[in-house]
Amino acid sequence: MSITIQFLGAAGCVTGSQFLVTAGGSRVLVDCGMFQGSPEEVARNRLPFAFAADDLDAVLLTHAHLDHCGRTPALVKAGYRGPIHATRATVDLAEIVLRDSAKLQVEFTERWNRRHARDEEPPAESEAVAEEVDDEALPDRMRDAPPEGRTETREPLYDEKDVDQSMQQMRGCDYGDEVAVAGGVTAVFHDAGHILGSAIIELRVADGDQRRTIVFSGDLGRDESPILRDPTPITAADAVVVESTYGNREHAPHDEAIDELVAAITEVSEDEGVLLVPAFAIGRTQEVIWVLDHLVREDRIPRVPLYLDSPMASRATDVYYDHPETYDEETKQLLDSGESPLKYPGQEFTDTPDQSKAIRHAKRPIMVVASSGMLTGGRIMHHLKDFLPDPKCTLLFIGYQGEGTLGRHIQDGGKTARIDGQEIDVRCRVRVISGFSAHADQHELEAWLAHFGRNGTDGGAPKRVFLVHGDPDAAEALAGRVRDMGMEPHIARHRETVDLA
Ligand SMILES: [Zn+2]
Repeated sequence: MSITIQFLGAAGCVTGSQFLVTAGGSRVLVDCGMFQGSPEEVARNRLPFAFAADDLDAVLLTHAHLDHCGRTPALVKAGYRGPIHATRATVDLAEIVLRDSAKLQVEFTERWNRRHARDEEPPAESEAVAEEVDDEALPDRMRDAPPEGRTETREPLYDEKDVDQSMQQMRGCDYGDEVAVAGGVTAVFHDAGHILGSAIIELRVADGDQRRTIVFSGDLGRDESPILRDPTPITAADAVVVESTYGNREHAPHDEAIDELVAAITEVSEDEGVLLVPAFAIGRTQEVIWVLDHLVREDRIPRVPLYLDSPMASRATDVYYDHPETYDEETKQLLDSGESPLKYPGQEFTDTPDQSKAIRHAKRPIMVVASSGMLTGGRIMHHLKDFLPDPKCTLLFIGYQGEGTLGRHIQDGGKTARIDGQEIDVRCRVRVISGFSAHADQHELEAWLAHFGRNGTDGGAPKRVFLVHGDPDAAEALAGRVRDMGMEPHIARHRETVDLA
């Protein structure tokens, strides 16, 4: 009898989630994520898979962030033709994320081959990773180094056709459904509360008369976050694979974040200025709009016009509208009473680059939400040229700023910013709100783990808790807590195989 799990990504780092479970003759892959961050990590995306793609029976995706689903089309390109199971909302969001990623892969490869043909330095590997990332899942290293010793021309990791094929293989399910995914293997997707559609996956595997339940936390959200239901408490498992992004840190309370947001808006309103919010398209943007709408309805902020200046965020917001089955009670009740909690009153979507540039002439005060979230490109760049030198404006960071990015430089107090070869003075106010995290902190991870064994189920508490998706310090800290809770922690190593028999 043999039930094993192999850690093929997000082990010892925060990206590239990929876990292979084998039970008897069945082989199931949980997540197929892109590596992001350092050049060494990004280069792993181009390595062959550690198994024969056509040997897999099923792929399960926890959620639509690129570091959890981004290599799926590469797997399909390598010959995988079986089902890809995810919640229906994840399937819809993944399509946006994967198409954006494919476009970038193709553009990057053309650039790479062009420079290669001219014997010039190739573009940095990190340019091949789309900007729509889980910012908090990025390691603290974003700097590039040119790849060495490459002599061949390249083909893209995948393209639009591979995404088309992947979408045909996607099978959407609902939370709580018991899905038969392979011989002797069933999966149940539970709310993870991280982004729309995100799931904790409970995998029940059997080999002969031997049975095991393995619970994958995916990325765990927070109880206080609006729109989505809280992470589901699970009470029984033989093994748990848990993320540890913030295994060594506590977040500021959500209320504090909201008070800081109120202060920033009030200030800009009184000054007739501009509040510029760099944001990623999926998750944080919709949460902040929900909060803004809430604050207007409660009369806590003046009704400052809002521009949502990101076509990808608009598309993601449409997917949020399409999946009310995932909303929490509060958001459902608001909808039932005729409110539209995912829309800020009178918000403007700007479709074209010209509409985006015209924002500079809008009557102030205004709020602008634009990407990219770390100021590494996108429409936010021309807004920065307009608003950074203006003391009546506020640049408000609500997401993590990776080291080496323009966002980190300004957050750290940089007095000038280099944009398109120009030095721009930073005279605007710079504010940082850290409480809008989409990941559980140490205390919340501990609280979720504490549910195991609580309902009196025989053997409910897992024998082993595997820690993944965390930098070494974070994983170590959480391992200490797990040990204190009477469970056996195990910090997963890259490519390690563990026998669960
Ligand atoms: Zn995520």
